[in-house]
Amino acid sequence: MLEYRTKHVVMFSGGAGSSWVGKYVADKYGWENTILLHTDTKWEDEDNYRFMKECAFHIGVGITTVADGRTPEDIFRKDLYFGNFGTAPCSKQLKMNQTFEYVQDLLGKGVKPILYFGIDFSEVRRAPRIAYNYKHNVDVFEDGIEVRFPLIGEIDGNPVNGEQLLYGTDYLNEGNMPRMRNELVFECLEKQNFIKCDANPKKEIVEEWEVPLPRMYALGFKHANCAGICVKAGKKHYQLLHKVWKHKYDEIEKIEKEINDAQVAKNGRRYTILSKTEETGELDSKGNPKKRKIPYSLEEYRTEVLEGGSCDLTNDDDNENPCECVF
Ligand code: SF4
Repeated sequence: MLEYRTKHVVMFSGGAGSSWVGKYVADKYGWENTILLHTDTKWEDEDNYRFMKECAFHIGVGITTVADGRTPEDIFRKDLYFGNFGTAPCSKQLKMNQTFEYVQDLLGKGVKPILYFGIDFSEVRRAPRIAYNYKHNVDVFEDGIEVRFPLIGEIDGNPVNGEQLLYGTDYLNEGNMPRMRNELVFECLEKQNFIKCDANPKKEIVEEWEVPLPRMYALGFKHANCAGICVKAGKKHYQLLHKVWKHKYDEIEKIEKEINDAQVAKNGRRYTILSKTEETGELDSKGNPKKRKIPYSLEEYRTEVLEGGSCDLTNDDDNENPCECVF
């Protein structure tokens, strides 16, 4: 049976979290055993590339870049579909599939990777889906590829992994993953010898590494992916984009409109990046109005809310979503 060597592969996205994780992994397991893997969507803000280079230099490990060659827009136009908060074809094809191919390549060279992600404790609910994807979508080992999350915390001296996040549940089994909430993961972690990570990556990178953060953070973005035009983001994110980078809002609004028009012409269906909630006119068993989600274009959001100030969207549950790429 083939004996595999282990390599620690950091999903180096271009943000502060994954850069901090890169340093953590290189310090803990050795720079010679660390790979900084960037899956390039070709949509990143130019200042992210500057940031990644400076961080990689500080960490002491070069960047390994893999790319499909297409941008998210190429994929949206081909499929006439953007995906949304729950599912995004760009994330799947440009990040996950690229990572799978890279993993296969490593395995062919006798290297078994462990993947590391820069998700922190405050957004821990994002991590189980990644663990699920790398358990079921990598057709190599029965249990998939191990994924770890140093910024969430450690158990017995090692970064918490996917199995530990969902300890005592069967959520990682095929078809069993519920819509995840932070509290569900907290309950699982509490049953183990878990120590929360209290690092502050942005502060450390600026003050100790002396590397200026990507300019998107100073503009108010929570994540610095795809230059702010992420199809998994919610209304608050697009409100910010409209305020600070109107040209980017206009760009994605135009793409959305063209794709939406083509989709409507093709089969009469509307696909938009955002959605909004409306009452159906019926009551549920408790006598409360039933609600449903309907497509809501960036053009509608801009004209009705951002420039019109006429629509109350406070009950929509995707209001708060920042860009959350499942890579
Ligand atoms: S950051 Fe957003 S737009 Fe970019 S690849 Fe990920 S999901 Fe798609």
